[in-house]
Parts: sequence; structure tokens; C-alpha cells
Amino acid sequence: MSTLPVYRWRLAPDGLATYRQLRARGLRPGGQEPVAVLQRPRRRGRSPLVAHLYRVDLAVPVRPMTAAKWAAVRAALVARRTCPGCGVVREYCIPISLGTCVPCADGHPSGLEDVL
Ligand SMILES: [Zn+2]
Repeated sequence: MSTLPVYRWRLAPDGLATYRQLRARGLRPGGQEPVAVLQRPRRRGRSPLVAHLYRVDLAVPVRPMTAAKWAAVRAALVARRTCPGCGVVREYCIPISLGTCVPCADGHPSGLEDVL
């Protein structure tokens, strides 16, 4: 076994969580080493279930937003504001019901007065 402290099931100190418990909160260990071992006794003759315990304060979100992901989100938002009719990026999302920006739907495409 390891030299890590061993806690009985449900007797682990606050601030520590198993991998599954971290995942339930949207967290992951994030490269940290386990700081303790959780031991769950089983029936006689069977070795106990063990789980590593990690520090919750060192855990990190499962899917951190990277710069590339933010850029993709921004690009998607710009695409939703770009009119397929006149190609102008509007201040609003193109209404799905219209399929184009309002000036295009009104029959007055690419009115610069709507952009400025
Ligand atoms: Zn348009």
C-alpha cells in the first residue's frame, strides 16, 4: 500500500473528495497527487474498496474554456448576426423567422443607416 493516510468510508475529512465526487461537481483532480486513501470495507474475505482522495481546493473545472473555445463562441455569435442576404453584421441576431436582417426582409437591403 501507499504511505497516504487512510480514512474509513464516510469518515473522510472535509475538503477531500474522490475522483467521482469531483466529477459530480464538474471538477477533476487537475494533476495533483492524491493526498489520502478512502477505504470501504467489504464482506469478509474480500479486500476493501479503495479510492484516492484529492483536495477539492486544488481541483480544476473539467472543461476549462480555452482562448480557442472563446474565439469559437465569438465567431458563432458573429455568424448569427451576419445577414445571409446583404452580408452585413448586425447588432442583433438574424431572426430565424425572417432568414435575413430586417432591412432585407423589408426589401431594403444593405442600408448603411442600419449599421451606423
Ligand atoms: Zn441583410
